Amino acid sequence: MMINGRYTGKYKVVNFIANHNGHDLVSPSKTHFLRSHRRITDVQALQADDISSSGIAPRAGYYLMSKQVGGRENIGFIFEDYKNYLRSKRTMEMKICDTGGVLEYLQQKQLVDPNFFYATQVDEDDLIANIIWVDAQMMVDYSHFGDVVSFDTTYWKNKEGRPFALFVGVNHHKQTIVFGAALLYDETASTFAWLFDTFARAMSEKQPKTILTDQDAAMAKVLIDERRYQELKADLRTCHSTPVASFPVEILKHAASVYTHEVFELFQDELRKAYDSQIELCGEIGETSEYKITPFKKHHQHTVMYDSSHGNISCSCKKFEFARILCSHALKVLSSRNIVKVPELYIKKRWTKKAKKSVVEAQPLGDSISASKCVNANDEKK
Ligand SMILES: [Zn+2]
Repeated sequence: MMINGRYTGKYKVVNFIANHNGHDLVSPSKTHFLRSHRRITDVQALQADDISSSGIAPRAGYYLMSKQVGGRENIGFIFEDYKNYLRSKRTMEMKICDTGGVLEYLQQKQLVDPNFFYATQVDEDDLIANIIWVDAQMMVDYSHFGDVVSFDTTYWKNKEGRPFALFVGVNHHKQTIVFGAALLYDETASTFAWLFDTFARAMSEKQPKTILTDQDAAMAKVLIDERRYQELKADLRTCHSTPVASFPVEILKHAASVYTHEVFELFQDELRKAYDSQIELCGEIGETSEYKITPFKKHHQHTVMYDSSHGNISCSCKKFEFARILCSHALKVLSSRNIVKVPELYIKKRWTKKAKKSVVEAQPLGDSISASKCVNANDEKK
């Protein structure tokens, strides 16, 4: 049967084939299975976007939307439509292998986030060779915690086998955070040189003190948003409570007042080890004393040098140099010298509750970013 009413507003049967209706008509509860009756409305599409971006899996997302309208028969589309919608949307957003698509994607990101930075490097045929991008949140994170940066290309490869690389670091809660991302079309020395230069430019020329590469891939295998969420949660804990010292020692109380919970735990552990060790004064030259520290039931020793005029302390284990908290050996010496506060010199701001304070004021981020945005045009590949 064919019905027409498009022009007149009145429905009129224009064609009827009697032998065609040999099957039962579809009941109203099943019409949502029919292709002609299935449609994801604009409002539903927006809701699907929200559900998907909040990390709910497609099947659960479809179930949730169905529940809201009293069952799948009322939703107007089937699970496959929902899945196809999300898939085609993602494909549109991430046409990574296609140059125009990538640029369009990055330009759109910049429209939404004016501080979004990206740069591309082109090869001799003017084709995009490498791409790097950094968003505003990454820049802020880097300004606080960019002293040590780990560069990881083992995280993920796209369809063409191009490595997707991440610049990652550690925040004051000892969580991994992402500072930048790059899609690399080759892994040559000149590519890396361009990448690190451009990354530094995106970060207002603030160079990391240390760059580690080829780190554990598992470190990066967590979603960026999840990282930030965990950091927010940890920040909340820090601002609503102070770590509790498991034994009431003055230096621990002081540490609890400055460090975040996570770093305080590490500090407390060092202090515990300090108590379980032996100290021996080996010599003194002027204001500098040399000590040997032997951990309990161990045979190895560490040498600690302490300069009482300036309060400088160093240990042969070099823990402070890489972990930025005082080692048990240094703490043992400080304790023997009756020092009851963590010396200011050895409190690294990045581990404190105030890690994220004042850097922003000291560095007018907006200015530097808009300056660096000028380099968004293609850079010539050397
Ligand atoms: Zn040490």
